[in-house]
Amino acid sequence: MTARPFPTGTILGYPRIGRRRELKRAVESFWAGRIDAAELEATAAGLRSATRERLAELGLGRADSAIPESFSYYDQVLDAAVAVGAIPARFERLRGADGGVDLAGYFTIARGEGDDAPLEMTKWFDSNYHYLVPEISPTTRFELHAERIVAEFVEARDAGFLTRPVVVGPITFLLLAKAADDAPAGFRPIDRLDELVPVYAQLLAELAAAGAEWVQLDEPALVSESIDEPRARVIAAIAAAYDVLGAADDRPAIFVAAPYGSLGDALPALAAAPVEAIGLDLVRGSLPDALDDLDPATAESLAAKTLVAGVVDGHNIWRGDLAAAFARVEAVQSLSGSVAVSTSTSLLHVPHDVDDESKLDPRLVSWLAFADQKVAQVAALARGLAEGRGAIAETLDAASVALADRAGAPGVRVPSVRERLAVLQPTDFSRADYDERLLAQDSLDLPELPTTTIGSFPQTGEIRRARAGLVGGTITADAYDGLMRDEIERVIRLQEDLGLDVLVHGEPERNDMVQYFAELLDGFAVTEHGWVQSYGSRCTRPSILWGDVSRPAPMTVAWAEYAQSLTGQHVKGMLTGPVTILAWSFVRDDLPLGDTARQVALALRDEIADLEAAGIRIIQVDEPALRELLPLKLADQPAYLDWSVGSFRLATAGAASATQVHTHLCYSEFGVIIDAIKNLDADVTSIEAARSRMEVVDDLATSGFDHGIGPGVYDIHSPRVPSIDEVTTLLERAVREIPANRLWVNPDCGLKTRGYDETVASLGHIIAATRAVRASL
Ligand code: GLN
Ligand code: ZN
Repeated sequence: MTARPFPTGTILGYPRIGRRRELKRAVESFWAGRIDAAELEATAAGLRSATRERLAELGLGRADSAIPESFSYYDQVLDAAVAVGAIPARFERLRGADGGVDLAGYFTIARGEGDDAPLEMTKWFDSNYHYLVPEISPTTRFELHAERIVAEFVEARDAGFLTRPVVVGPITFLLLAKAADDAPAGFRPIDRLDELVPVYAQLLAELAAAGAEWVQLDEPALVSESIDEPRARVIAAIAAAYDVLGAADDRPAIFVAAPYGSLGDALPALAAAPVEAIGLDLVRGSLPDALDDLDPATAESLAAKTLVAGVVDGHNIWRGDLAAAFARVEAVQSLSGSVAVSTSTSLLHVPHDVDDESKLDPRLVSWLAFADQKVAQVAALARGLAEGRGAIAETLDAASVALADRAGAPGVRVPSVRERLAVLQPTDFSRADYDERLLAQDSLDLPELPTTTIGSFPQTGEIRRARAGLVGGTITADAYDGLMRDEIERVIRLQEDLGLDVLVHGEPERNDMVQYFAELLDGFAVTEHGWVQSYGSRCTRPSILWGDVSRPAPMTVAWAEYAQSLTGQHVKGMLTGPVTILAWSFVRDDLPLGDTARQVALALRDEIADLEAAGIRIIQVDEPALRELLPLKLADQPAYLDWSVGSFRLATAGAASATQVHTHLCYSEFGVIIDAIKNLDADVTSIEAARSRMEVVDDLATSGFDHGIGPGVYDIHSPRVPSIDEVTTLLERAVREIPANRLWVNPDCGLKTRGYDETVASLGHIIAATRAVRASL
């Protein structure tokens, strides 16, 4: 086949949730039965059409395959699973007459139904996006059902666009899949590659027949070191898949994109494969890495391909150093005569358009690039590639001026913050010995198996309305304060009535556990429309961490103090830890994350001192994201664990021995981070355990973890109320493994997404079960 040239500028993918989250609303309306499938499809078609128009307006070609067809109703991995017919056995019933599933069935696989659990969800490489994990068994029947992929291409074609379909590639699809429960031991989904590839070949043929000239197959699994498969096997899969796909005559040209890192030793194999274009992530990955040991054969094969230089960062929201990006594109030209410009990853990870932000400081805005600004950057670099650097000199210079302005702007580098960091001593990271603390904390006078909650109580409609009223200016700050105080009092009385031992204030004043702090710390900005898809219809609105972080005033003390004034029992102070604050924000790219984490830690350390001064004796610092930020590359993990654990210790080590420091982690699979969790040196660690029936308790017991621990006994992800017996069984299992004097009793996580009825019933059962187990000790 003779390929049409690859477009000079493109992006790997674009946000699909809509500028005003139109897709979220439509999908959720469809789930609630308020609109039918046709109406949802019409909304989705409107969004796709608006995206194409917008991308063309921003400078991508209408007729040269530059615009990616990267829409998804829920998730691109689920799309691929459905397109190749990889439906788990429990959802077989969803297949229609032609063997495919319709939109309702697609969502059922994503969300589950009755006793049929949905596909599991897990993090997509090193992003905050979560994909659905396909389940593959030796008998999974691969069969093409790609109507939607073809229809979206045709829809574009009919509207006058020649677009480029984007599909998760076959290797990544299988490497991200898990063996179905009924698969024999030792079975690996990648064992099925040879049977899956012909289905992809058929998909390519259908796309070619519809007129597609290029197709993009996303193969990020080729760059990842965290894929649990021997590297040699991953590399061997490249020839196994792409020799077959490339051999067909009736296919579009193939662009294999490898975002989220360096291809490394997979590059020679991909270079040798009969594909026409290779996408390199030159932001996370680096060219020299690959170049250094390029053998002549690889160099020769690469020279015959289009190299798509991913130089515009798809992962962050900074305008960045455009001149350096252009230099990187020029460097790639030494490898091949055919070079194109692209983003390093899909733009899925950034919000739509910084121009939608009317309330941000214009100076900050000039340093930012959201998806639309990144597309414009790609278009400019592509023009420079075609017409020479001179043609875009002004654009490059303007970006450099903004970068220099950012470097020198007030707040970006704050001398007092830097100085405080510079003089830190090892002792600032350590508390007294645990035994000494235990003695000092005796005065807390806690019962055996103390009961507590993780912090938040249900966020009722009333609370949300009050907050909306405060933001919208329809209620005064004083009135809002009064409403929150009323709520705190209700929550305190409820906990007293239920008989909980350590109380919380309930967190009614927090819109979000990170944004709440971002709004009160210097160095952060908050957006109005900066939503990014987290999974399915769920979006988050990360804050922008742009400068040195400091705390202008106490953030939580007044609420905690008020709550404590209402009761004779201990009220836990409640803070979000430095790692989680970073993980759920857009972080700066001009300072090592560890330094930023220590800045946040110092702000929290001051907050803890103020909480202590206000009479709070127990303080919880939540770090649910500790595991989430763990780097993909094994080699990078020790450094990460060093600064992340260090920042938690720095935040908490100023606490007096008599102050009990708690932490909370939202998962039960500790694996590689178990030592890190020990190193946090919290007095008490609460974790998720109910969902996994306390399995984690064994892991902890055998790991030598010897501080307080609160394995969750109530799965707060479901409205189900656990019975007293059920909780008793869980607790009995826990006391067998963990000495009763170290065991706490609590739910898996915060209660903010639950309703009051089930919360009250569940907490009542937890307390009854605890009393029964205490009596048997
Ligand atoms: N304290 C927070 C809450 O209870 C913790 C939330 C979390 O771990 N994600 O909501
Ligand atoms: Zn949690």
